[in-house]
Amino acid sequence: MIAKTMEKRAEILSGKTYSQAIKDEVAAEVKDLKENSGIIPCLVVVRVGEDTASEVYVNSKIKTAKELGIISEHKHLPDETTQAELLEVVEELNRREDVDGILVQLPLPKQIDEKVVLEKINPEKDVDGFNPINVGRLSQGQDALTPCTPAGILDMLKRAEIEISGKNAVVIGRSNIVGKPMAMLLLKENATVTICHSRTKNLAEVCSNADILVAAVGVAGIIKAEHIKEGAAVIDVGMNRLTDIEEVKEFFGDDELAKRLKTVEKRGSTLVGDVNQKAAMEKAAYFTPVPGGVGLLTVAMLMKNTVKAAKNRSKK
Ligand code: NAP
Repeated sequence: MIAKTMEKRAEILSGKTYSQAIKDEVAAEVKDLKENSGIIPCLVVVRVGEDTASEVYVNSKIKTAKELGIISEHKHLPDETTQAELLEVVEELNRREDVDGILVQLPLPKQIDEKVVLEKINPEKDVDGFNPINVGRLSQGQDALTPCTPAGILDMLKRAEIEISGKNAVVIGRSNIVGKPMAMLLLKENATVTICHSRTKNLAEVCSNADILVAAVGVAGIIKAEHIKEGAAVIDVGMNRLTDIEEVKEFFGDDELAKRLKTVEKRGSTLVGDVNQKAAMEKAAYFTPVPGGVGLLTVAMLMKNTVKAAKNRSKK
């Protein structure tokens, strides 16, 4: 059992605090790298089309890179870009010796097969960790560039000194972006890992055995009190919007409810995770809120991966 079991309110794992710790380390590493080998890490983000959410994510990545002294480029290609044209851009970035990290922002327009593009990215520059070579390395327990969201979660669990080895970890969701790599990382840390998905029977029963529960589903409030073990660490990856006032009232305790109701009144919705926050605050020992939890770690970890790739370049 994880510590703090007798407390009624979970300790908030603040994405802001933990992502800042990662970014501080990255900024120091960038400085060292420049001073000792003359290399300035360089990240290129490729975006195709006009997806509004992608634009927000890409801008945030470029801005964070700049803040940390990483050179960043944003290649924005038109919606009608063909697969061959995008592959040519990737190949050109693979060839460029000054580029350490290549990130192709997903989703891509429907004429482009995401799998083909991700396979084309040089695994040594694959800072998203989605190339099958890196996926294979991760599943073999080798050093790899690892998908940023699960890598950020693991980094936070370690910094918060939450014990992983020998603990029961349940990951809900089996996507290539979050669920599967999360499970692999927890396995590497010697947790006993269970992966749940849409066909899992008795989800609550399986989850209620978890010392570490990671929800990466995309369904608001699917995780309720009966899913949470007393004293667990509950990590909420989901990002969903609630518009219904009654659902918002079910979701939050007195500490948060008034603020959220105001947000719905003002903006028409409020951002929530997969975990009922009121239940998590009452039963868990640790909880990542939405917003302000996991989301911030993802961008910080991308920067860490870029510096890792640059360090590998400096060793060549
Ligand atoms: P995804 O590819 O849609 O995967 C969702 C997973 O949830 C699937 O494995 C699915 O099972 C499972 N699932 C769906 N309904 C379920 C149910 N009723 N019971 C149990 N499992 C169920 O999503 P994703 O890309 O992994 O993202 C998951 C969530 O995390 C989304 O809300 C996304 O926005 C958020 N996210 C946040 C960040 C961040 O930085 N904060 C990063 C990435 C994603 P099947 O495989 O059987 O369909």
